[in-house]
Amino acid sequence: MEEGLSSDNINQIACVVDVQGFIVDKKFYPRELAIVNDIVNVSFNVDPEIQLQNTSKYQLGCLNFQTHQLHGLSIRPCDGTFNITNSTFEDFLFVILKTLINNEKPIVAIKNHQLRPILQRLNIDYVDVEKGDIIIPSTESLDNVNPLGKWTCGLHSESGDINRKCALRKSCNVWSWLKRNQEKLRQIKIMSRMPLNYIN
Ligand SMILES: [Zn+2]
Repeated sequence: MEEGLSSDNINQIACVVDVQGFIVDKKFYPRELAIVNDIVNVSFNVDPEIQLQNTSKYQLGCLNFQTHQLHGLSIRPCDGTFNITNSTFEDFLFVILKTLINNEKPIVAIKNHQLRPILQRLNIDYVDVEKGDIIIPSTESLDNVNPLGKWTCGLHSESGDINRKCALRKSCNVWSWLKRNQEKLRQIKIMSRMPLNYIN
């Protein structure tokens, strides 16, 4: 079930999930999976299993563009690293999310339309933070207010360039923003329950 972000569900979010990857012929191939909450803060290498022998010169150019201009993630992870594969990606995501969601916090937050069909297939309830009564700032604005500035996790082969998109950085920024706004809403609720003469 998809929901927009509201004061009713902002406290029910178990974690933020984000992905970075490649788009080939309008199909998304995950390459980095990030999951963040107060306890978990992790990005996973994903082998997108793109069959390079079947790609045209044009498609190869698009893949290289995505690596060098967008996220700095190589088309395949280095051999010898622990990798999730594209074929096991959804099963892995399902298992890890099921360990994080519970009755009190049954929702996963996303700010990435690539994750919508995946979470729908997995039957995981999610809130799209770009919809609803509370609107989150743009990814660029979240980067700009982060005291750490822009950074990338260790999966990016060209991590020296801070302008690279990183699923872990975005998830951390979204989680921090949600936490700040949960606290603001909590204080507003406390204030609204106080007698007026106390507030004045
Ligand atoms: Zn990253």
